[in-house]
Amino acid sequence: MSTAFYRTRELTHCRGVSPRKAEVLKGEIEVFHPEDLLYYFPYRYIDRSKFYSIREISGANTYVQIKGKIVSMKTVGKGRQLRLTAEFSDGRDSISLVWFQGVQYFIDRIQIDKEYIIFGKPTVFGGRCQIAHPEMDTIESASKKHLTNGLMSMYNTSDKMKRNYLDSAGLRQIIMDELQNLKTSPLEETLPADIRERENLMELNRAIWNIHSPENSQTLAEAQYRLKFEELFYIQLKMQRAYKRQINEHGLVFSRIADYFNNFYNQQLPFPLTGAQKRVLKEIREDVRTGKQMNRLLQGDVGSGKTLVATMTMLMALDNGYQACLLAPTEILANQHFETIFNQLTPIGVNVALLTGSTKAAVRKKLLPSIKSGETQVLIGTHAILEDTVEFANLGMAIIDEQHRFGVEQRSKLWHKNTVPPHILVMTATPIPRTLAMTLYGDLSVSVIDELPPGRKPIQTYHQYDTNRERLYHFMRMEIAKGRQVYVVFPLIKESEKLDFENLTAGYQRLCAVFPQPQYNICMVHGKMTTEEKDENMQKFVSGQANIMVATTVIEVGVNVPNASVMVIESAERFGLSQLHQLRGRVGRGADQSYCILVTDVKLAKETIRRMEIMTRTNDGFEIAEADLRMRGEGDIEGTQQSGTPMKMRIANIATDGVILMRARDASIAIIANDPDLKLPENQIYVNQLAHLARELNIWGNIS
Ligand code: ADP
Ligand code: MG
Repeated sequence: MSTAFYRTRELTHCRGVSPRKAEVLKGEIEVFHPEDLLYYFPYRYIDRSKFYSIREISGANTYVQIKGKIVSMKTVGKGRQLRLTAEFSDGRDSISLVWFQGVQYFIDRIQIDKEYIIFGKPTVFGGRCQIAHPEMDTIESASKKHLTNGLMSMYNTSDKMKRNYLDSAGLRQIIMDELQNLKTSPLEETLPADIRERENLMELNRAIWNIHSPENSQTLAEAQYRLKFEELFYIQLKMQRAYKRQINEHGLVFSRIADYFNNFYNQQLPFPLTGAQKRVLKEIREDVRTGKQMNRLLQGDVGSGKTLVATMTMLMALDNGYQACLLAPTEILANQHFETIFNQLTPIGVNVALLTGSTKAAVRKKLLPSIKSGETQVLIGTHAILEDTVEFANLGMAIIDEQHRFGVEQRSKLWHKNTVPPHILVMTATPIPRTLAMTLYGDLSVSVIDELPPGRKPIQTYHQYDTNRERLYHFMRMEIAKGRQVYVVFPLIKESEKLDFENLTAGYQRLCAVFPQPQYNICMVHGKMTTEEKDENMQKFVSGQANIMVATTVIEVGVNVPNASVMVIESAERFGLSQLHQLRGRVGRGADQSYCILVTDVKLAKETIRRMEIMTRTNDGFEIAEADLRMRGEGDIEGTQQSGTPMKMRIANIATDGVILMRARDASIAIIANDPDLKLPENQIYVNQLAHLARELNIWGNIS
């Protein structure tokens, strides 16, 4: 057994890998050693047992394979424009083949009237089908490569890789050569025999072989299953182990429900709780009386009333002599929570305070001792609460709002705010599909508010092109005349910040011209403002003084203005599904009919059209979250990172591999339950593999 053979050899020792190619592989796809090559999995397979006749081919085919001969060749253009075109005939019809690069190389090698198998992607050019840079094999070389008897692997590559002859075919050749080594130097198994037997998993070497060069579709499916299982299993194992280590099983016991909770319930409750709110409060109540630390994720669609659940949960802590805190991701949201909760809790004698990054030094100086002495019972704020200087007398409950990417590190800061860690409730309105929640949070229990407060009318969503603004303005005027308020949101995304900012200001000015003072009043909030400016503008909107709020996504989460009935999203094509849904959730919070208008460019990518279609069709956050996850799809590494979902997985897909995830999770839980520190000799295999995967799994460590 010699995994080391693949881990230690230089890439340049692999057949066909020049120093230049090695550099590109490292830089582009983080392939440093031959083992990384073996674990660089194809994103799809193409059936190469089928041969097309040229007559069948149209621009609609993704890939085609044809057998035939080159009957003529000619070059066109000069210098950098030089192209080689060839007529390829299957004996009946012919198609053009084109080369833009390496022209001389192909002129030297291609033989007229010799039989070739060509493979490529047809495109229509000047009304005729052609294939650019086809893969070409002679009959002999194709059979030597076992190309035409089955499924051929396709690999994701970048432009830079393609320029360096590392396109899918180039990469495949290198991987195929490296696979040959497995015969004499097989990899060591990464999963023990008992698990493989129980879960019916293919042996590692066979799986690696089949994932790149499938014997048939059945063995390919088995190979995929095994490798997905392995990937998910180690993510789960790492998480379970970290969880067991960090969590003090021991938790605070809240044995009673007393005056604070009851007085609030009887005197301050603004409306009857929904059934779902009641159920979730019961689940929380059950957790906190057990003597185990609660770690619960509360999912509830936008507007489902999570804040009220948070408030009442904090009162459970107070009734047992503990303090509570509520963390919000933005100052705007922290301020708003503070205002709501301060107004609700002060009358029943609760001391509520606010702490954010912009709390004035003088205020802070007074506040810190009051938190430390226990005088402050409920603390609301931003991440500023996590700082070491913030010490509690007896923190019993910490609630994290609207933040599903709250690091284990940050969570552990909360744990350490008390000798026995406080109970923790994480609330999110970005409904996370169950499988993703499990992968992200490991052992968090999940509660769901799946019911909106009564009387809400579903938001009506429309998609509209930016060429027809008059209609939109007319509609806004009508709603404002009814006394409603309107949000207009512009994207502000980091990379193109300057341009976005110009768009925002231009949009603001345009609106000011269309909705002039004194009849209309427009306010604006964006990330470049100081907190005071933001607050002042926000306040104008909350109080109803402003009819229109122009904003960036800083208002994405949590903000609550029930009188706002229209959400206009400009350049909606630039937002992801979950973000659009979040933004839409800012309206529809009162009893009035609310609307969301998605404004886009006329020219749209197919995927954008689908996103708009989903948004206009459904209000169901869970359905949207699932669709979001699926649409981001496999292979789209950059896309997933941008949207902030840490799903850098090689082969498993959280959206579709839920069943495998459950099995992998159960297996890992059983192992950790039996041997929390993985000290048993038979568990050494896991320790080794986890250490090896440390770099890769690190990204996961930040999220559990
Ligand atoms: P989210 O779950 O998005 O955080 P909020 O807590 O901001 O939602 O609540 C949205 C709106 O619904 C608020 O105006 C809140 O006062 C109201 N609300 C919450 N619970 C109820 C209820 N049981 N009945 C009626 N309205 C409610
Ligand atoms: Mg909220």
